[in-house]
Amino acid sequence: MIEMHDVWKVYSNGVEALRGVNVSVGHGEFVYIVGPSGAGKSSFIKLMYREEKPTHGIVLINDVNVKRVRDWKIPHVRRKIGVVFQDFKLLPSMSAYENVAFAMEAIEVPKRKIKPRVEEVLELVGLNDRMHALPSQLSGGEQQRVAIARAIVNNPTFIIADEPTGNLDPENSWDIMYLLEEINNRGTTVVMATHNKEIVNTLRQRVIAIEQGVIVRDEEGGEYGYED
Ligand code: ADP
Ligand code: ADP
Repeated sequence: MIEMHDVWKVYSNGVEALRGVNVSVGHGEFVYIVGPSGAGKSSFIKLMYREEKPTHGIVLINDVNVKRVRDWKIPHVRRKIGVVFQDFKLLPSMSAYENVAFAMEAIEVPKRKIKPRVEEVLELVGLNDRMHALPSQLSGGEQQRVAIARAIVNNPTFIIADEPTGNLDPENSWDIMYLLEEINNRGTTVVMATHNKEIVNTLRQRVIAIEQGVIVRDEEGGEYGYED
């Protein structure tokens, strides 16, 4: 569960990216975050994986107040959250296998448990035959599938995705969406910021619209609602 209570994000240059946001995302939900550029979507999402802390207000992730958690505890909170980016953010010198394994090594999973789990998730995303390839040898769609494998390998409660289809062609975008749907069907909560009108209007889910730092719409099975 993610909860925000009167959350403000004010950057050091004075920009009020979020202004009094209240929201609750429950276990197993699938939520799209939509809105114009500069509306505050990335800031909202960054608070959900604690890349940013609120200037004011409370963010609770699985009942933990992220502002109060001591730094040493952050990996413990973060392992419950898998993050997927528009530009994939894979480590370029590591193979697909190593990129995924690295996420398990980082939280000190015993070595013998790593190989079977990495192979399992690479199979789930359909990349078991490409696991020794470097990111530069993979297509954009394949790289995003590696990133999703990395995000789910530690069995997170949430997947937070910031425009995961933003750099992909339509065919690869749909493949990524079907994968995220399947992950959601297995019980993982998915929150994704997106500008993809066709996807939002086709795979109907909860839609939260943000404009000028405020939630202006929050609908189950909602529409994209913008022209871009
Ligand atoms: P802070 O979170 O304290 O603002 P950052 O390291 O995130 O610090 O950013 C430093 C500065 O870079 C900001 O104060 C701002 O001037 C600029 N900046 C960074 N990202 C953005 C952005 N997306 N839009 C506008 N300015 C930005
Ligand atoms: P969106 O994802 O909807 O485009 P953002 O959350 O990235 O919106 O940005 C909201 C507002 O906050 C914008 O005005 C942006 O320039 C500003 N902003 C984002 N990050 C920073 C930063 N690190 N420092 C200063 N301003 C920022």
